[in-house]
Amino acid sequence: MEKFLKEQYAKLGISKAVLDFGDEILLSLKARFARIDEIAEYNQLKVIRAMQKCRVSEACLSGTTGYGYNDLGRDTLEQVYAEIFHAEDALVRPQITCGTHALALALMSNLRPGDELLSPVGKPYDTLEEVIGIRASKGSLKEYGISYRQVDLLPDGGFDYEAVRAAIHEKTKLVTIQRSKGYQTRPTLSVTQIGELIHFIKEIRPDILCMVDNCYGEFVETIEPGDVGADMTVGSLIKNPGGGLAPIGGYIAGKKECVENAAYRLTSPGLGKEVGASLGVMSAFYQGLFLAPTVTASALKGAVFAANLFEKLGFPVIPNGTESRHDIIQAVTFGKPEGVIAFCQGIQAAASVDSFVTPEPWDMPGYDSQVIMAAGAFVSGSSIELSADGPIASPYAVYFQGGLTWPHAKLGILKALQSLTDSGFISEGALK
Ligand SMILES: *Cc1c(COP(=O)(O)O)cnc(C)c1O
Repeated sequence: MEKFLKEQYAKLGISKAVLDFGDEILLSLKARFARIDEIAEYNQLKVIRAMQKCRVSEACLSGTTGYGYNDLGRDTLEQVYAEIFHAEDALVRPQITCGTHALALALMSNLRPGDELLSPVGKPYDTLEEVIGIRASKGSLKEYGISYRQVDLLPDGGFDYEAVRAAIHEKTKLVTIQRSKGYQTRPTLSVTQIGELIHFIKEIRPDILCMVDNCYGEFVETIEPGDVGADMTVGSLIKNPGGGLAPIGGYIAGKKECVENAAYRLTSPGLGKEVGASLGVMSAFYQGLFLAPTVTASALKGAVFAANLFEKLGFPVIPNGTESRHDIIQAVTFGKPEGVIAFCQGIQAAASVDSFVTPEPWDMPGYDSQVIMAAGAFVSGSSIELSADGPIASPYAVYFQGGLTWPHAKLGILKALQSLTDSGFISEGALK
């Protein structure tokens, strides 16, 4: 078996030195991987139980057209999400086009002119800068008279509680907490840490709404932000909860009133959740959610493997090889653009779709520096699939995530290492 496996890797362009180096690292990760499998097992049961409790039936898997009144599949799926994310209600729709849209919707529908939005965890994800109006944009919250305030994390990644207290005043209506680091080199927040922050804010003013940007965090832990008091949990279906099968979509799970506000904004005042045909995507939404815990576990194993492998080669990695995980993103800092580019080209070369394409840096809308992206995906742009991206800007870090199966994640990391050695960025001698 081992011999045949080695032959397969050789056929895919992995040298013996790269494969041996990877396998050596994997020997030390058995206990970590077992723990990841245990969390996946727990979350798999949670999903099955929610589907049973909400009486998911075969009829739920077919969709509606037109107005979409009485769409059983859509309405039941929203109950399933509410159950899993510990919320009163949820909005889960193909009409929510991506994660940024879901977050913008949650914000715009729950804030009114004169309100203030607070981020107590530093700068939000790049695309939200235009939503908020940190970078000027048509239709931003700022244009509608909604102000924004930010409190940065402390140098050690902790919350600056005193500054948060000072930033809260009578106009503060909503607090946005980003779980994942996104394109930053700060640590990702655990759900428990998020809970502590929410508790602190609610003690000052219980009526402030706490929203969590849950992108990339779903099913990484056994609890979700709704379990620790979040009023809204928001994310994208082409990341973790879509399980790689959802072709589009986003979700907002939370307080009934928050979800209703979002539905009125997504469709129309008065219509809300009652309209919005699910077309043909329900079966992919359900089956993707069913697969999401084990798919997330595969991606997580890839992230842990990459952290340990590149750490051993002397590159700074966040999180480091031994830290506990709260999202599926792995950052590796190469310090030079050539490292970022060779890494992404290796990930692309491991894909099933578009493996022959060579990615190059480009000016991507919504981002303020050039970005290189590797994504040979079944669902375009899906980052629960094996993918990597990096802004071409100091410190020249690459952000790696996804892998629908563990063997694919492993191949991707080995291909990235192969690309880095083939290009001379890492010497073969370093693998000895
Ligand atoms: C991906 C992501 C978003 C935006 O989602 P898109 O689907 O790319 O629009 C927002 N916040 C975080 C933390 C993300 O990872």
